[in-house]
Amino acid sequence: MAQLSPLLKQATPVQAARGEGVYLFDTDGRRHLDFTAGIGVTSTGHCHPAVVKAAQDQVATLIHGQYTTVMHQPLLKLAERLGEVLPEGIDSVFFSNSGSEAVEASVRLARQATGRPLVLAFDGGFHGRTMGAAALTTSGAKIRAGIGPLMGGVAFAPFPYAYRHGWTEEQAVEFALTELDRQLASTAPVSDVAAFIVEPVLGEGGYVPTPAAFLQGLRERADRHGILLIADEVQTGFGRTGKFWGHQHAEGVVPDIIVTAKGLASGFPLSAIAAPKAIMEKAWPGSQGGTYGGNAVACAAALATLDVVLGENLVENSRVQGERLVAGVRDAAQGIAAIGDVRGRGLMVGIEFVDAQGKPDGATAAKVHAAAAEHGLLLLTCGVYGNVVRMIPPLVVTAEQVDEGLALWTKAL
Ligand code: PLP
Repeated sequence: MAQLSPLLKQATPVQAARGEGVYLFDTDGRRHLDFTAGIGVTSTGHCHPAVVKAAQDQVATLIHGQYTTVMHQPLLKLAERLGEVLPEGIDSVFFSNSGSEAVEASVRLARQATGRPLVLAFDGGFHGRTMGAAALTTSGAKIRAGIGPLMGGVAFAPFPYAYRHGWTEEQAVEFALTELDRQLASTAPVSDVAAFIVEPVLGEGGYVPTPAAFLQGLRERADRHGILLIADEVQTGFGRTGKFWGHQHAEGVVPDIIVTAKGLASGFPLSAIAAPKAIMEKAWPGSQGGTYGGNAVACAAALATLDVVLGENLVENSRVQGERLVAGVRDAAQGIAAIGDVRGRGLMVGIEFVDAQGKPDGATAAKVHAAAAEHGLLLLTCGVYGNVVRMIPPLVVTAEQVDEGLALWTKAL
């Protein structure tokens, strides 16, 4: 009998037997309120009936039709329907399986389209664990340790993380853009930079909403220097932040390449990059993709997911319930010195734990996380120092369920 690899270290002792909406039921029949949504994946809730039906129907019709050999209806239809939610001008899509693969596809496309080698990512960013994506990732030391050499041609610039530096958002943006300009002018010849890659909310790095002025500054510099702006919307897309795409919080900003995964197919492995046709056609067939990309069942699930997200008004629900959740978490934090900051955008809510000196306190975050799990509330931690507890409920969460989560959170605190 083979044993599970020690690589599979779980954060809670829960063994899930089934899921329904915002709840998971374990093998002992105990109910858990799932404010992790499979790390931001099951936005339509566990086993939404429309998604289940679409997947079941597709399994009985065609499971796999590899896109270098044959096209199939779910993929063609999904490409067409994504046009309803993508920004104007972003009219070409390409599918793969995971967020990391799509991130790599976006970098590959940026290099193919510009003929330039360098990619500029931001401190604390998370873009995945495959070798190329890990090269762009600095949200946690253990991701890159011991696996080098990583993909070359990557440089990093500061992210405007106002709270950690004790700055206002304006000060943080000014610092980050000034530093970026300095870097563009010196260490990296601008004509060698293919792309900036940025998360509209710094995700694994601590749930820090990217200030609108920073994204606007990136867009302006990208235009000025012929650099492509890649928005890594793996976690922030599909309504998670209270707008369909996270970058839409920055008025006037349209990325050149959007990377999406997680909420796209309610738990089926599917990811995509989207870009204007003029950029996408600079890549050539055979240079991107893999055997399972754009799987028929995953695409059918994504079509149903899109229907649910739009039909059940989940983007607006994310905004409304996100505000309720943040307000409740702020109330619960009153008088608790260990909570340094509470922040959120839509249903991405982060609670930053600090010690008496205001330094990151990962141990306390871990303790509260474990206490919440004991009370039946599943949460995650994140942050460069592991000191942020995050809440990512499914977008179908109701006001009553938000309040249920807040009551459990208060007990755990
Ligand atoms: N990019 C972002 C912003 C993410 O949050 C993640 C996963 O958490 C990834 C990329 C990698 O996605 P995956 O784990 O599906 O490879």
